Amino acid sequence: MADPTEFQFDLPPDRHWAPMPLAERIHKTAWAAADGCASLRGAETREAVRVIVIHATAGATTDGAVSVMEEARASFHWIVPGKDEPTHGVHVWATCPERLAAWHVRRSCAHPDICGGANNLNRASLGIEIVNRQDGENPFSSWQLEATADIVRYAAGKYPNLTHVVSHARLDPTRRTDPGPNFPWAEFKAMVLD
Ligand SMILES: [Zn+2]
Repeated sequence: MADPTEFQFDLPPDRHWAPMPLAERIHKTAWAAADGCASLRGAETREAVRVIVIHATAGATTDGAVSVMEEARASFHWIVPGKDEPTHGVHVWATCPERLAAWHVRRSCAHPDICGGANNLNRASLGIEIVNRQDGENPFSSWQLEATADIVRYAAGKYPNLTHVVSHARLDPTRRTDPGPNFPWAEFKAMVLD
């Protein structure tokens, strides 16, 4: 079984990927909540974004994930809906403005292969939550993988310094396993890079 703390690949540095639109809709509740649970990046967003972090919600619904933003406990930039939700197969939810640093990775977390081992990575990253129970019996759907890869490709076309695509588990291995051992990382990597 795959080890999610190993999930990382890097985007080609001299890529010339055309900007692409993203099939996203603003989640109004989350967007409003973002004011209370996201910070300024401290740098121009176009220059600042170097990392994109893949999470899974360990829950069954978009609303459940949004509730952590309403409670100002955490935040992230997009949610990829779960298989049983009406938006599955249609669009992803934008939940926090990209210009803000969402709170999705602990401040102290760092990895030598990511931004030279720097911490405080929320300022340099975008976060994607994929709705999945993470119970080992709730597979990620093909659409969820494609939708997540589309977000990465969209961001890669928009942010020239975006380099590292990583799991939350890689950044916080003692506390987090998401997106979990059942996330097909190799397949996902191929969707982004091919
Ligand atoms: Zn996470």
